[in-house]
Amino acid sequence: MSRSPPELALALRQLHPRRGWLTAQSCRLRRHLSCSQRLLAKTDTIVVLGGGISGLASALHLSRSLPKGKKVILVEKENRLGGWIQSERRRLTPPAGSTEIQEEAVLLEGGPRSIRPTGYSGLVMLDLVRSLGIWDRMLLVPKTAASARNRFIWYPDLLNQLPSSLTALPSMFRLPVMKGVIGELLREFNAPSRFQRPKSESPGEKHRWARRELLEDESVEGFLTRRVRGGTKLAHNIVSAVMHGIYAGDIRRLSVRSILGFLWETEKVHGGLLRRFLLPPRLNSRHRPPGPEQIALKAQEREALERAQEKLGKQVVNEMKQISVYSFPEGMQELPRAIGEALGAAENVQVLTNTSCSALRIADDGCVAVKTSSGTIVCDRVVSSLPAATLNALLSPALPEQYLTGGASANVGVVNIAIPSWLLGDRKRLLKVEGFGFLVPRSVNENKDGILGVVFDSDSLPAQDVPLGGSTSARTPTKLTVMMGGAHWQDLPRDQLPSQKALIEGAKAAVVRYLDVPHEMLDDPSTLIVARMQSDCIPWYTVGHPVRMAKLHRAILDGYHGQEAPWKGRLALVGASYTGVSVNDCVARATETAQKIVEEETRGAGSERKTTGLEILALPCGLL
Ligand SMILES: Cc1cc2nc3c(=O)[nH]c(=O)nc-3n(C[C@H](O)[C@H](O)[C@H](O)COP(=O)(O)OP(=O)(O)OC[C@H]3O[C@@H](n4cnc5c(N)ncnc54)[C@H](O)[C@@H]3O)c2cc1C
Repeated sequence: MSRSPPELALALRQLHPRRGWLTAQSCRLRRHLSCSQRLLAKTDTIVVLGGGISGLASALHLSRSLPKGKKVILVEKENRLGGWIQSERRRLTPPAGSTEIQEEAVLLEGGPRSIRPTGYSGLVMLDLVRSLGIWDRMLLVPKTAASARNRFIWYPDLLNQLPSSLTALPSMFRLPVMKGVIGELLREFNAPSRFQRPKSESPGEKHRWARRELLEDESVEGFLTRRVRGGTKLAHNIVSAVMHGIYAGDIRRLSVRSILGFLWETEKVHGGLLRRFLLPPRLNSRHRPPGPEQIALKAQEREALERAQEKLGKQVVNEMKQISVYSFPEGMQELPRAIGEALGAAENVQVLTNTSCSALRIADDGCVAVKTSSGTIVCDRVVSSLPAATLNALLSPALPEQYLTGGASANVGVVNIAIPSWLLGDRKRLLKVEGFGFLVPRSVNENKDGILGVVFDSDSLPAQDVPLGGSTSARTPTKLTVMMGGAHWQDLPRDQLPSQKALIEGAKAAVVRYLDVPHEMLDDPSTLIVARMQSDCIPWYTVGHPVRMAKLHRAILDGYHGQEAPWKGRLALVGASYTGVSVNDCVARATETAQKIVEEETRGAGSERKTTGLEILALPCGLL
């Protein structure tokens, strides 16, 4: 049943008994406003949906930068903040009666475990870390560390160590996983480019080519096999492993333009990938200088990077160039915790946990009514960081469904294994290799448990795991995370996904098989094994994603299905579903979007509100 404005206000007052942000009186007054005035109705409140890292970063930037008098309400359905960031401190308890062994504490990650400090979004994240006062808590992994240098691919039945420097490149040719790949790469040089254009073009042809370059897309597998003239080794042995590591994704479905956009651009400009590195433009008959739009885009990206560098300072930027990844002693959860504390201390923010949003409706007076499990909130606009498919079910009027539900997402089994140091006996270390971990490509046939890869957490961030009781032991527990499923389980209905028990059995079998970890250590009662099924946890940008997002952007701005644009200026989209899944990208895009909203709110009532959150994916209107 829809509520009238006074009821909405009442609900809000119940929600905030001390300070109702929209009074019943102001709502009554609004009913007397003319239609056009109604559209400008203001509540001074912005609701942020979702308390994962994207929602938190949005709320924080809004709270810090909005003009005085504006308020933010963050709505999160769980009783905690952080979304997929899920760090947990656990104890490894010695067997009863053993007095000489000290308990050990391990930090388990159910979601992201580390962040890269480079690139534009990496720098935006560093700025956030600094502003939260947790800079000194960062655990930095230098690029020289074994865990930064040593990465492995399991193929066909052994660990192949990938080269970590130019001098190690020759050893690459001996790796089984590279067999056939080098030949494919050499063939790439002469493979025709899909962007090769005739020497002179009529305006009609120009338009057709522009459409082709901007609207078409291809799967990662399709792109690579086309470029290497039908070969599959590069795609199946190497790139599929990398995509398992980042997206738990299937290269047959992921969009090359979204995921590996630089490859698409390289083919466009240089006519091939090898050509870019081997031929200077003047000797490359296929070279076509980037058009004015591409040049402008690159310039924008460069400026944004320079601004981010300037903000952080040269010294920090240079120091961070030596760092591979970082996290915190209490894991990634320190980030949402610190943001939560900052929001808690801000006067203009209300954080509602345990509060689920069940509908978003545009009320008669032009405000947005956000229906939640604790009542209805009336606000000016909404920043949604919910998964796109979740948001799709809430909107009234709806946005074109195919743009919000056109992607897919991965179900990933995450199994943390922590083996206490006292089980190692005389050994210095348990694992036969040292490094970041290994990935399993799709070309490995014998993989019934759908193993995507195993991360050697204790090699990357041993400082997270500490002996308790004042022990000075140099040894720390061996901590591994086994990732399973994703691409391997994409056709399984939800109720047929493996049980917790099956996840644990699969993970144990994997570390025995791939890493020779003895069975008895895994079965020892003091070894801790925690399994979680993370459902729909990583969005897949499937083929067509860039165009779907560009159309969604236009649908919000210009309307659709003959409707005017009901959500224009009322809904902005942030979060992993749209513009990047890494924690860095989530934070950078959320911060940019919040900044655009701040600018619109600062300009005042007369200014046009048009932030959608998807601006970086916009395409020229005439092409769509
Ligand atoms: C296993 C795993 C490993 C990863 N590893 C890394 C890594 O090492 N490095 C890296 O950079 N990235 C990694 N990622 C990706 C990254 O962690 C996520 O993409 C990112 O955390 C997503 O943040 P988000 O805020 O956009 O979404 P979410 O974290 O999904 O937040 C959305 C929030 O909305 C809430 N919500 C949903 N529905 C409602 C509703 N109806 N009402 C109110 N609230 C609602 C949810 O409870 C949730 O808190 C990993 C992800 C996973 C799952």
